[in-house]
Amino acid sequence: MKKVAFYTLGCKLNYSETSTISRLFEEKGHKKVDFTDTPDIFIINTCSVTENADKKCHKIVREARSISPDAYVAIIGCYAQLKPKEIAEIPGVDAVLGAAEKFRLVELLDGFVRQPQAQVFASDIEKANRFNTSYSLHDRTRTFLKVQDGCDYSCTFCTIPLARGNSRSDSIANIVKTAEEIATTEVREIVLTGVNTGDFGLQEGKRVERFVDLIKALDQVEGIDRFRISSIEPNLLTDEIIAFVSQSQRFVPHFHIPLQSGSNKVLKLMKRRYLRELYHDRVNTIKSRMPHCCIGVDVIVGFPGETDEDFLETYQFLNELNISYLHVFTYSERENTPAASMSGKVPAHVRAERSKMLHILSDKKRRKFYEENLEREATVLFENDVEEGMMHGFTENYIRVVAKYDPVLVNELRKVKLLQIQAKGLVEVEDAVSEVHLH
Ligand code: SF4
Repeated sequence: MKKVAFYTLGCKLNYSETSTISRLFEEKGHKKVDFTDTPDIFIINTCSVTENADKKCHKIVREARSISPDAYVAIIGCYAQLKPKEIAEIPGVDAVLGAAEKFRLVELLDGFVRQPQAQVFASDIEKANRFNTSYSLHDRTRTFLKVQDGCDYSCTFCTIPLARGNSRSDSIANIVKTAEEIATTEVREIVLTGVNTGDFGLQEGKRVERFVDLIKALDQVEGIDRFRISSIEPNLLTDEIIAFVSQSQRFVPHFHIPLQSGSNKVLKLMKRRYLRELYHDRVNTIKSRMPHCCIGVDVIVGFPGETDEDFLETYQFLNELNISYLHVFTYSERENTPAASMSGKVPAHVRAERSKMLHILSDKKRRKFYEENLEREATVLFENDVEEGMMHGFTENYIRVVAKYDPVLVNELRKVKLLQIQAKGLVEVEDAVSEVHLH
């Protein structure tokens, strides 16, 4: 039996995959331990989107080596797929596994015996065509369940298709089975994740199922109180999906929809598959059916060719749109992407100013959304964290609430009244909370 520790960089998908790989180790009799608990094996799951991915990778390997100088260090994940040779040369790395190999790590690295040279198992990305079911179980409250992987789009700024391969999905039957399995644990909420979640349904290159049918099937799973869709492209968010979510008992009124830019000129340069008018229409359709639905938006600032006018167009568009918060990304060049060689580079300080403006706008939007919900009743799923005697949770429409810590409430759904916004911007709830039995 060996002690194995995991370190994950990047997105929810990486977290769900690390979690699944850690269970593969446990099935083989190994013991999962903390990073600092002198492990025999370190598995580092990397991300290519992370700023300075290479520096981060070096740093974590150094840390691992200083904790356990003789441990086996394996690097997996998107960055490992993109730069296997460079990573293999990092001092202290014993193995690098690409997208097609990472789930076979326990068998490939037979015995985890260190060799004089790092071992590299990274096939071309075309070989990453299998779907591996993954879900995270990092806390009891909610789990990230991967339903789709890879992407067939070619947004000009993005390396994900190079790192994760073509779009492919699990089957509805298998996802329902996995959700039923998760329902036997204490998990209350499942977040459906994917690289391009709305593109769900491709198996071996053929479109065989639809995302809307997946959510209809999951809505019937007993024992899971809430389902959340992590993110969905606006062009794939159909009226049918919106209509279904609006009447569902289990799918919560919360959408996270990447916009990336409010300028049609920039959207075209990015090769996104919609224009701002479509985005506007999606938001209006959602809000007309679910006035209290939370809508989160991804936006990139400083894309090559984004002039001051283009940025202001984005700012105005978002300012007038009925949305609840923004996730702001500052554009940075990625090797092997068309955008990296486009003209019209935006100076770093301008990118930073634009990011700051949108962060302020996001705070304003969130506050307004929270204010619109005050005095309403909502259902909160309480989490297992205590901070200065207080605990936190999210409502169905993703409002972060704060309440006096009560261990009985951990991982429980409670109906509460939203009272007021406190100094840190969270919403206080009434002390007396009534139990909810949804199903
Ligand atoms: S939709 Fe575009 S941004 Fe998203 S993963 Fe695919 S290529 Fe990347």
